[in-house]
Amino acid sequence: MTAAGIDNVRFEARLLLSHATGLSTEELISRGRNPAPPAHEEALRGLTARRVKREPMAYILGEREFWGLPFKVTPAVLVPRPDSETVIEAALSLMPDRTRAWRILDLGLGSGCLLLTLLKEFPNARGVGLEASPEALAIARGNAEALGVAGRGTLREGDWRLPDWTRPLGGPFDLVVSNPPYIEASTIDGLMPEVARHEPRLALDGGPDGLAPYRVIAAVGRELVAPGGLLLAEVGEGQAIEVAEIFGAGGLQPGAPFKDLGGIDRVVRATH
Ligand code: GLN
Repeated sequence: MTAAGIDNVRFEARLLLSHATGLSTEELISRGRNPAPPAHEEALRGLTARRVKREPMAYILGEREFWGLPFKVTPAVLVPRPDSETVIEAALSLMPDRTRAWRILDLGLGSGCLLLTLLKEFPNARGVGLEASPEALAIARGNAEALGVAGRGTLREGDWRLPDWTRPLGGPFDLVVSNPPYIEASTIDGLMPEVARHEPRLALDGGPDGLAPYRVIAAVGRELVAPGGLLLAEVGEGQAIEVAEIFGAGGLQPGAPFKDLGGIDRVVRATH
């Protein structure tokens, strides 16, 4: 795997071995150098071949942790990233009362990591999620069930590129969150192979300048965000100022952005 350009080879190899054998790291260590049964060896070879093609670990293992919660993932959804946890931090800091029955909307559910985590953190909240890909929607629904929040979430298929797309959502909402596609279309092929070759274009491609989805959201901001409510949108590096301007032009009041752990302005906020 080193030759394929993968860092952290030992760590990943151990995870793949665990996955192939169904044994924990501790169990593997206690087995020492006993040879693996042929079925396990075969399984490991299959998983390693996928990783060498730079398939993301999360797709091979079928799961990724986000905010300490397990999310099933497939190639139909963007892999949840630590950067996106900044959206959750921002929501918790701006809406400290966890007991309120907030109405929350997530535009572009993917795995559901944003909305479903918020429904866990706000036990009386109700959520609506919009997702254009039926395959992704099925994953998000499965995650909602597994996390025990399905009863408080309405996860719907829909596409903000179509007219009247907000009508079925039933807003307005106290909190609208989104991690929209924000990569400039022409740069996607130059990203690391895990992203460029394996993650869904629908979740990455933000149009020619990467900002198209923010314009769509801004155009309906005052309709979707209730007066006094909040919009939190993840942005790419260097996009925060422009996105704040786009939200401002849509009639919302932008505020200071939230930084991710790398110190990058990662989440733009705006209020109505
Ligand atoms: N965070 C992803 C990346 O940089 C992009 C996801 C997105 O477009 N929302 O690869």
